[in-house]
Amino acid sequence: MDFKEYITIVPDYPKEGIRFKDITTLMENGAAYKKAIDEMANFAKDKQIDVVVGPEARGFVVGCPISYALEIGFVPVRKAGKLPREVLKVEYGLEYGKDVLTIHKDAIKPGQRVLIADDLLATGGTIEATVKMVEELGGIVAGIVFMIELDYLDGRQKLSKYEIFSLTQYS
Ligand code: IMP
Repeated sequence: MDFKEYITIVPDYPKEGIRFKDITTLMENGAAYKKAIDEMANFAKDKQIDVVVGPEARGFVVGCPISYALEIGFVPVRKAGKLPREVLKVEYGLEYGKDVLTIHKDAIKPGQRVLIADDLLATGGTIEATVKMVEELGGIVAGIVFMIELDYLDGRQKLSKYEIFSLTQYS
């Protein structure tokens, strides 16, 4: 399946010069959404994954159905102030600014094998921060999956230690 047929490119969003990749049109198509999740779950299925971790909000859209398919748990990574219990915090640089990500301190147990999932790899800042939190809690990053990879931003270089799977690439 050519997933690009279902992804909409929105010029000049959220600011001039950015060609935003909108996955909502892929999600609206049941067959395309299912196939996308199936392919990502398939990449992970022989990696003895214990838990899926995804950053809000589109990391939930990708990570939760993968965790359901693999019959394992899902751990949310959220912006500051959103998780109710004790958190680990990390500051990170975004394609469009700076922010803080948090994870519940007890969500990953030392030695657990983790699959990280998100919609899109741009500069890699979001996932680099997510990896940092998972590893600080003693988790092992056994794979990282994306629906979309923007080749020209070289995010993959930041994550070169890890096995990455992306459904579609834009150059
Ligand atoms: P990074 O941290 O620079 O890799 O940016 C990745 C994050 O920014 C992802 O969590 C995306 O949700 C978001 N993002 C950046 N560019 C786009 C885009 O073109 N479409 C959708 N999300 C984007």
